Amino acid sequence: MPSVELKQIEKHYGSFHALKDINLDIEEGEFVVMVGPSGCGKSTLLKTIAGLETVGSGQLLIKGRDVTKMEPGDRGIAMVFQSYALYPHMTVAENMGFGLRMARRPKVEIDAAVARAAQILRLEEQLAKKPKQLSGGQRQRVAIGRAITRSPDVFLFDEPLSNLDAALRTQMRVELSTLHAELGSTMIYVTHDQVEAMTMASRIVVLNGGRIEQVGAPLALYTNPANLFVAGFLGAPRMNFVVGKVAEASGSSAKVICAGGLEVAFDRLVEKASVGETVTVGIRPEKLRLDDPDAGMRFPAQVRLTEYLGRETIVYADAGELATSGSDSGTGAFTIQIADIRPFQSSSAVTIGFDAREAYLFAADGRTITSPKPVART
Ligand code: ATP
Repeated sequence: MPSVELKQIEKHYGSFHALKDINLDIEEGEFVVMVGPSGCGKSTLLKTIAGLETVGSGQLLIKGRDVTKMEPGDRGIAMVFQSYALYPHMTVAENMGFGLRMARRPKVEIDAAVARAAQILRLEEQLAKKPKQLSGGQRQRVAIGRAITRSPDVFLFDEPLSNLDAALRTQMRVELSTLHAELGSTMIYVTHDQVEAMTMASRIVVLNGGRIEQVGAPLALYTNPANLFVAGFLGAPRMNFVVGKVAEASGSSAKVICAGGLEVAFDRLVEKASVGETVTVGIRPEKLRLDDPDAGMRFPAQVRLTEYLGRETIVYADAGELATSGSDSGTGAFTIQIADIRPFQSSSAVTIGFDAREAYLFAADGRTITSPKPVART
């Protein structure tokens, strides 16, 4: 039996349609991460599961129980917020035991649950302190501890690491993954952070405009996005997109001509392409090569800007009429990611190259026509 079942969930705020036909089964012990652009409905969906928002229609089951109309406290969930939401006048121990005290559990049970959570989260030394005496990372651990003590069927996290600095985020990310492995509980996690999504999720749910665009394992979504939206959303730097027209198509092959005359041949189409159709060719920044004579496809460009990130170099380069659309530069430049440090002077002439087999092709309506490792879609 799935841990959480969302069936045809719809939600409106007045005339605004916030959640559209959400259908999703989450298995016991899964770590599901919801991502999507700001305003896509991630938090609304999480709050709907928590019972902090009502649904317009549809059904929500947790461990097979219909909880659609139940109060949050009766759903078997515990939620951790970005803002920690700790009680300032209570100690760490009192904060962590709060849910159990409200449920009128015996003191001995509360003490044992708090001690266990404190041990898991390495908070044993902090139990007598008040929240203001703790660092941000420790406060968030207390909030997680408060959730653990309640032994919920499902943990819900709403951007829990957003208030932490970069180093602490990385540390907490690892801690949360470890915690998930230890507890084996179902966790649903909302984030803006691509790295959190890619590293922590057993499955990622990509939302857009209140709708689920695609659900799948992180690498499956990265290599086989169902459409241009998912392809552009997952990956930093973003995929390069170039608009073109199908010049030839037969069976599972097609030739696409882009502005500037670049021709890209595809020979493993999963969906059909028609001659004259406007399409988008996509290529990930790490698959573009600079000044590589062995690259199958090559075109001239001029370096606009180079960023040195320590272990990698990001180059933005303009290729005249052959401009990208919707890529990271926002100005038509190609983004090239190189896995080591290589100096490229601004304005210097370079050749951008790639292998046509590394390219994606998207239809005018955004559907993926093919990807480098194509899989048939049902
Ligand atoms: P972010 O990443 O910015 O937090 P999100 O994906 O979590 O965004 P939600 O907070 O779920 O987005 O909001 C989805 C949409 O619903 C937004 O357009 C928002 O303005 C709208 N919305 C959310 N709560 C309410 C509300 N109480 N009343 C009216 N509209 C709301």
